[in-house]
Amino acid sequence: MKRDYYEILGVSKSSTQEEIKKAYRKVAMQYHPDRNPGDKAAEEKFKEAAEAYEVLNDPDKRAQYDRFGHNAFSGGRGGGGFQGGGMNMEDIFSQFGDIFGDDAFGSFFGGGGGRRSSGSRGRGARGSNLRVKLKMNFEEIAKGATKTIKVKKHVKCQTCTGSGAKDKNSVQTCGTCGGSGQVRRVQNTFLGQMQTVSTCPACNGEGTTVTSKCNACRGEGRVYGEETVSIEIPAGVQEGMQLSINGKGNAGERGGSPGDLIVLIEEEAHPQLQRDGLNVAFDLYLSFPDAVFGTQVEVPTIDGRAKIKIPAGTQSGKIFRLKGKGFPSVNSYERGDQLIHVNIWTPQHISPEEKSMLEKMGKSSNFEPKPEKNEKSFFDKVREMFS
Ligand SMILES: [Zn+2]
Ligand SMILES: [Zn+2]
Repeated sequence: MKRDYYEILGVSKSSTQEEIKKAYRKVAMQYHPDRNPGDKAAEEKFKEAAEAYEVLNDPDKRAQYDRFGHNAFSGGRGGGGFQGGGMNMEDIFSQFGDIFGDDAFGSFFGGGGGRRSSGSRGRGARGSNLRVKLKMNFEEIAKGATKTIKVKKHVKCQTCTGSGAKDKNSVQTCGTCGGSGQVRRVQNTFLGQMQTVSTCPACNGEGTTVTSKCNACRGEGRVYGEETVSIEIPAGVQEGMQLSINGKGNAGERGGSPGDLIVLIEEEAHPQLQRDGLNVAFDLYLSFPDAVFGTQVEVPTIDGRAKIKIPAGTQSGKIFRLKGKGFPSVNSYERGDQLIHVNIWTPQHISPEEKSMLEKMGKSSNFEPKPEKNEKSFFDKVREMFS
C-alpha cells in the first residue's frame, strides 16, 4: 500500500507550492543518503519523498492526484519517472537544482544539475557551430544540388590526432580526480557532514592531463585549417532557409565533438524570371500584330525553354499558366506553376508611313475597346496569380 503523498511530506491538501517545496527540502535533508550512509530505510524514505514532490510540485499532476489518488498514475506503472516509484538517484539529484538552487543549500549537493554526464568525460570542449552562406540559382533550386564548398575552420590536429599531447606518454590520468573528472569533498555544516560532488578543477572534468603538449596545436588538439565539405541541398529551398549539417562545424578541443555547419541559403536573382513562393512569374512582351494574329513564342522556364501558343486576339494583361513548371515544395509533393503575364508592346517611335496607317486603323470600329463582361478584371487576375 502506497502512502499518501501529502502525508509523506507532512503537509495538508491545501498547502501552497511554496509550503510543499519547503516541506520536501526538510524531508530530503533528513533522509539524504550522504547523511545516512548504508541506511536502506532512509534511502527508501528519501526516494518516496522525491516521488511525492515530483507529483505535488506539478500543478497538473497534483490536480490528477487530488482527483484519482495513486490510480491517476498507475496506468503506466514501470515506465519510470514518478510512476510506481521508479525514480532513480540521478533523477532525484537533478530535481535539486530547482529545490536547492535558490539558496545556500545548493552547494551541499554540488548543484545537482552541475554534474557532467559520463558521456562527455575524458573529452575537451565541443567545437562551436559555423555559419556559411550558399548561393543557389533557380535551376539548382528547382532540381536540388550537391554543392562542394571549402570551409575555413578549426580542424582536428593531425600531428596528435586531436589529443593535444606530444606523445602517448604525455597523457596521464588526472591525479586530482583519479580519472573520474569529478571531485568529492566533505564539508562540515550545521546539519552535519555533507558531501559535495563537482567537476574536477585540475582537468576540467576531462579525467586526463597532458604533461607535454603537442607542438603543432600547442595542446589544443585542433588547428586552424580548411575542409572541403559536400552538401546535399534538397530541391525547393528558399532565400533565408538554414540547413544544419551535423559535425561539420569547428573541431572540438582535445577530441571534443565538433560543432555543426549551418548553411544559409541565398537565392540568386534570375535575369528574366521572378519567384513568388512556389510559382514563377514571367513578363511576356508581344507586338500588337502578334497579339492580333496569334503566334508561337519561346519562354524561359526554370527547366529550359518552353514553346507556348498565343491565340489570335490575345488581350494585354492575359495570364497563361504553365502547370507544374514552378518550384517543387521542399517539404511536400506540391509543385508551383509558371505564370506568363502578357504585355502588348506599344511603339514609342513611328515612321510617317506607320503613322498614317495607324490613323486609318484608329477610325475603324474594330479598334475601339469593347471589354466583355466576363473579361477578368485586373484585380481578379492579381488574386488568381497569387493564389
Ligand atoms: Zn581531474
Ligand atoms: Zn596537436
